[in-house]
Amino acid sequence: MFRVETSDRTEVVDVTDRVADEIPDSVSSGVCTVFVRHTTAGVVVQEAESGLLEDIEEFAEDLAPSDGDYRHDRIDDNADAHLRATVLGESVSVPVEDGELATGTWQSILLVECDGPRTRKVDVVVTS
Ligand code: ZN
Repeated sequence: MFRVETSDRTEVVDVTDRVADEIPDSVSSGVCTVFVRHTTAGVVVQEAESGLLEDIEEFAEDLAPSDGDYRHDRIDDNADAHLRATVLGESVSVPVEDGELATGTWQSILLVECDGPRTRKVDVVVTS
């Protein structure tokens, strides 16, 4: 598990290297599951090109308008963030080969903050 500090309400953070650091030396091949313990943040596998990161932020915001008429806003005022996270998903699984993440050339693991700034906990579970 590691923590990520976000600084904006919507923000994409490349956590690939931090996930890779969590793979135990004892694991040669297996599956790495990355799971965010939150209901207003998601995790996706996507290219970490700077323009695309901004596009993903805008895309996430477009998934649920901030000025929508949401029931949850009566108690917490962040329904838009919950709905965005619902679409993005709370986990991804990545194969491990030779002790390393077996991602494609352009694939990175991205935490998508939908209700920052906050401190997020990211679990990494590797099974062989
Ligand atoms: Zn809420």
